[in-house]
Amino acid sequence: MPHTGSCLCGAAKFTVATPIAETYACHCEMCRKWSGGIALAFETPPDGLTIDAGDTIKTYASSEWGERSFCTACGSGLYFRMIAPGPQHGTYYVNLGALDDPSGIPLTGELFIDIKPDGYALEGDHQRITGEEFFAMIEAASAPKD
Ligand SMILES: [Zn+2]
Ligand SMILES: [Zn+2]
Repeated sequence: MPHTGSCLCGAAKFTVATPIAETYACHCEMCRKWSGGIALAFETPPDGLTIDAGDTIKTYASSEWGERSFCTACGSGLYFRMIAPGPQHGTYYVNLGALDDPSGIPLTGELFIDIKPDGYALEGDHQRITGEEFFAMIEAASAPKD
């Protein structure tokens, strides 16, 4: 079953056609500022996300890595898109909270655990990696292979 999602005011709507097997939390400063809280997102391939209503969606290039799209009518964050070259180019990281029904999707990892704010912790036996470990993984994934 495809998942549907929207912003708070409902002007922006989308459908995710691909299965959502997992979600992760990112505690990096940009995701924290972007979400205003705990950033939770799930990965969707470039052709997995369809925008059903997008007139109010604006996109902000938050870094050379990616851009973040949000609804200009209500301010809800919707998704991050990887624009850096490499295997993840074009991949969407959709905000879990924007789904109409986010139930049943397990949390499988936390990124930038070393800079997580002190006032909360996510329970469960999942992967927790530091910013340094995250960047090492990205470098390994995008290194030319021979
Ligand atoms: Zn909206
Ligand atoms: Zn982040």
